[in-house]
Order: sequence, then structure tokens, then C-alpha cells
Amino acid sequence: MADIIQLLPDHVANQIAAGEVVQRPASVVKELLENAIDAGAKTIKLIIKGGGKTLIQVVDDGLGMSETDARLSFERHATSKIRQAEDLFTLSTKGFRGEALASIAAIAHVEMQTRLEKAELGTHLKIEGSNIVFQQVKVVPKGTSMSVKHLFFNIPARRNFLKSDQVELRHITDEFHRVALAHPQIAFHYYVNGSELFGLPKGNLRQRIVHVFGNKTNQKLVPISEETQVVTISGFINKPEFAKKSRGEQFFFVNNRFIKSPYLHHAVLSAFEGLIKTDCHPGYFIYLEVDPGTIDINIHPTKTEVKFDDEHTLYAILRSTIKHSLGQFNVVPSLDFESDPNLETPYAYKNKGAELPKITVDQGFNPFTESNGGIATKSYRSGKTQAKDSSWESLYVGLESNIGKRVDYDNLQFESDTITGSIFEGQTDVSESQATTFQLRRKYIVTTIKSGMVVIDQSRAHQRVLYEKFLRNSTVKQVVSQQLLFPLSLSFSKSDMAVLNDIKETLDAVGFVFDKIEAESVEVRGVPLLVPESEVGMVLDQLIADCQQEVEGESFSQTDILSKTMAKTLAVKTGEILENASQLALVNDLFACKEPMVSPFNKPVFVTITENEIDKKFI
Ligand code: ADP
Ligand code: MG
Repeated sequence: MADIIQLLPDHVANQIAAGEVVQRPASVVKELLENAIDAGAKTIKLIIKGGGKTLIQVVDDGLGMSETDARLSFERHATSKIRQAEDLFTLSTKGFRGEALASIAAIAHVEMQTRLEKAELGTHLKIEGSNIVFQQVKVVPKGTSMSVKHLFFNIPARRNFLKSDQVELRHITDEFHRVALAHPQIAFHYYVNGSELFGLPKGNLRQRIVHVFGNKTNQKLVPISEETQVVTISGFINKPEFAKKSRGEQFFFVNNRFIKSPYLHHAVLSAFEGLIKTDCHPGYFIYLEVDPGTIDINIHPTKTEVKFDDEHTLYAILRSTIKHSLGQFNVVPSLDFESDPNLETPYAYKNKGAELPKITVDQGFNPFTESNGGIATKSYRSGKTQAKDSSWESLYVGLESNIGKRVDYDNLQFESDTITGSIFEGQTDVSESQATTFQLRRKYIVTTIKSGMVVIDQSRAHQRVLYEKFLRNSTVKQVVSQQLLFPLSLSFSKSDMAVLNDIKETLDAVGFVFDKIEAESVEVRGVPLLVPESEVGMVLDQLIADCQQEVEGESFSQTDILSKTMAKTLAVKTGEILENASQLALVNDLFACKEPMVSPFNKPVFVTITENEIDKKFI
């Protein structure tokens, strides 16, 4: 048989390599920013148009390149950063593979202008899909400017795979944050579609974090620091009470390089254990300095994964360093998750009637007893989660006299006249309606039907009810929104604000009313009817987190995500005790839904057990 193996031509090899190096515009941004840093730049400009699909440009004031180097830099395995394999173990630069420029030039239109400080004239070079269009001498500023246009112009499949401009921009901004946080001593300017999104002067780390994430961040930061033979740790953690629903502000840097490390992340979580709620995430900016010889950053083409020689020791040191800081800065004793429930009462409820004594009844103990029918407590969401309540409670306010008549609960919420401390005393109406419900292990509602019984997951049921309500509200043209007596001012980071702006129209459609939208804050004047004021911040936080994570699919609908998130956040949870009246109301509402069978997240909501099945057990 004839020989069949051939060497691939360079441009093909480069295109294949590009598949590893360049996944999306953000990868190009990362490589170009890193090159600028390696070139010793003091100020770096990043210019983005059309989510990076139209233009990615990085301008630096670093070393620049000679005419020959300018041409050579686009060759594969062309690097000034290592000469022999041993250099890998003493590496202090970001790049070293000599692949980035060759890869990018293989799949885009690239223009470079560069000049060495001492040279009078610089070089202007243009490459399209690995072909040099021209190279000429030109008067250009010192340093290097690289612009990348028409990314993936010759690989339509990859180009079509890119997400919307907004989504790609978010990835770019994430990348920008990582680089900017790793190098506070370099000034950065970030322009998006012609306007400056971030202008970061050089400064110390704390200043950099505050410039990136907003003024409010300053008060959240607790410094950490530790010096051992193995590692030097510095940086900041966020105080536990600022833990967020989103995982946004979590950064590890090793020798000034951003890395991902689930293992070290776990070390941080374990240091925070018991200090933050389970569905919240701590924020951290942790900088590790280790001997370059003890890590291997070569294991991943984009170099975000690192292998440490002695991970276990690192884990232990990191964990104890964080614990120590939490203790030292008195963060731990001042923690108070169960905030004063009075502060969380919506305005409409304030000063309504006398506070009734709170009685906690363990309904799981004997669910059939009559005695739990008459709990005269205003808050039937008792136990740990009590303080969080209000939506559920207010949703069914005034029910006792209307049970069975199909009430429009939406309108009941703020009819404050009917709200008194004793609203649930009139339990007789409920029992008259003949339906029997009881709560099983603070998790399920059990009720009877003709053919047997139904066991309903209370949390999923409520999610379904709320979800359909939100969906309905947002499709009806006249959304009902509840005006806040005093507008709420909420702070967000610039990137959170960008997401908020993206989804604003949808938020308006479900009943949010925003005022004074600024770079890092927003004033909320109105909220959807079912969202209690005390939960507004949390709901928005969760919405932003969900939208950020949402990989934009075909059926991407912001209203849907929004409704799901709000339903998830506001629904009663497992572990909450529900009053009989509320159990019944929930059951009625659930079966008035279009799709009572499944939760908004496609989980079963209830199971039925027929008399037949029960009979069988007695044979
Ligand atoms: P690597 O960074 O791994 O060396 P690249 O393909 O990213 O590989 O770059 C190739 C070479 O081009 C670098 O080693 C460097 O010498 C030169 N270079 C790239 N970008 C710049 C820049 N902004 N300023 C000066 N030199 C640069
Ligand atoms: Mg590089």
C-alpha cells in the first residue's frame, strides 16, 4: 500500500490549534491582554464592538516589537518567553506556548501596529486567515496595538455557534475582570461600543476590587494574609453576611494568574461553614504565591487549571488562614441571620393590631388532632425560616371567609382592612368546606380525593402556583405592580447592572418599576404584587445570577426565567409549618393551575394513592 501520511500545511495546523486556544471572543481578549502584560505595559486599553464579533482591540504601551519580531510573532511556536523546557519551571510570564497569535491570525482578520521605544518608525501588518495582506513601515505610537475582526470568518460552524452579543460580552467582561484583578498596578480602560465601561487607575488591590465591583464593596472586604514556606496568601474575603445568591465574586490567583480550583474552593467553603446560608456563596479574592517549580500550569491550553505539588497542605493552610481572619476581624460574633422580623414586615402590615403570642405546634406529631385547627398566630411560617416570610402569608390573607368561592387572591394582598391579627381564628369556615388536609413532616400536604388520597410537595406546589401567576401577570398588558411607600435604593456591581439593563424590559413587564438607573445602583419604586418588599433585593440578586448563568438556548425567554426564579425564591420551603387554611388554599390553587402535575423545574408535584392500592396492602 502506498504511503498515506502527510504533514499538514501550517495554516491548517494553525486552524486546528485555534480550536483549542480560541473558543469565543473572550479567549482572544484573554490572550491579547496577557501579551500586553507580558510586554510590561503600564496602561492597557481594551476596545470591544458587537460582543467581540465585530472588533476586539487591545492597545498597550509596552515593549513593542521589531520589524522581524512583528512578522515572526504570528508563526506557530514563536515565543520570546521560553528557550528551553526547563524555563517552564521558572516561568513568570503569562504566555509561553507561542501559539496564541498564530491561532488567532488563522481564523480572523488581524491588524497589528507596533513600535519599539528606541525605534523611530514602527510596523503595520495585516493578516487574514494566516495570509499576510501587507506589512509596511509606519509612524505609530510606542507599544503595540492588535485588532481582531471577523472572528471565525473562515469557519462558519464556529461562528454560528457563538451566542448573542450580550452573552459574548459578558464572557469578555468576566475575562477582563480576572486580568484586571490580577494586575492592580496596571491601569485599564475598557470601552464597549464606543463608551467606557470601566476606567481603572493603577492602585492597590483593595482599590482595584472597589473600582471593579463598586463602592459598596469596600465595607464587605476582610483582608487575609499568611506567609509559610509553601505558600504566601494575600487578598480579601467578603464578610459572611454579604454572601450572595450568585457565585459571581469568587477569584483565585496563583502567581498573578487567574485559576479555577474546585479543591481550593472547597477549602474556602469549609472555612465559612456555618456562617452563611446553604444557598448562598461567599465572595473572595485570594492570591497565592508559590514557587513556580511546584506547580504545573501546562496541563490546560487556556491555562486556567493548575496542578499543585502539595494540594493537601495548601488546603489546610488556606482554610485556617480564612478562619483566622474571620475571627480576628470580629466577623463571626456579630453575625445575625435571623434579623428582626418586625423590620421585614411590609409597610402595609405595620401597626395592624396587637402582636399575638406565637405558638409553635409540631403538626407532624399528630396531624389528625383538632387542636391545631385554631392556632391564633399571625405567622404560620414558624421555625427557622419564619423571618423570611410574608409572600405566602399575605397571599392567602382574608381567606377564611372566602374559602370555596374561588377568590382572586392577587387583589387580596394589600386590602389592609381585612388584615388583623386574628385573621386565622375563624377556622370553622375551613372545616365546613369539608376538605381535610394535614401536613406531613413539614414537607407534604396530604388531602383526600374521591378515589383515595393525594400527597403534595408543598414547596413545588407553591412554585407552580406562583410561576403561573407570574407568567399570567406578565402576559397581561396591564401589569399590577405594588408601589413602594419609600423607593428602595439597591447597589449592584457594574456587570450586574449590565445584566439588569439587559432584562429590564422583561422586569418592567412583570411589574418592577425602576427609577434612577445609575452605573452602580438602581432605585426600585414598584414591585410585582406577589413580591414582598423585604425580598426585593434577594429576588433581583437571584434573577441576575440566573440570567448570567443561562446559556442562551433557542427557547430562551427572559419572562420564563424570571417567573421561575421568582417562584423558586418566594415559594414556601420544606420545613415550614403551614396553617390548615393555607394548606387548603394551596391545594385549591394548585389544582386551578394549568399544569399542576409538575413544578416549573419539571419535578413531580404530587402523587396519588388510590383506595385500591391501599386495599391491596391489607390483603
Ligand atoms: P506567547 O505569548 O505564548 O509567547 P503569542 O503567540 O501570544 O505567544 O505571542 C508571540 C510573541 O509575540 C510573544 O512571545 C511576544 O514576544 C510577542 N508579542 C505578542 N504580543 C505582544 C505585545 N503586545 N507586545 C510585545 N510583544 C508581543
Ligand atoms: Mg501570548
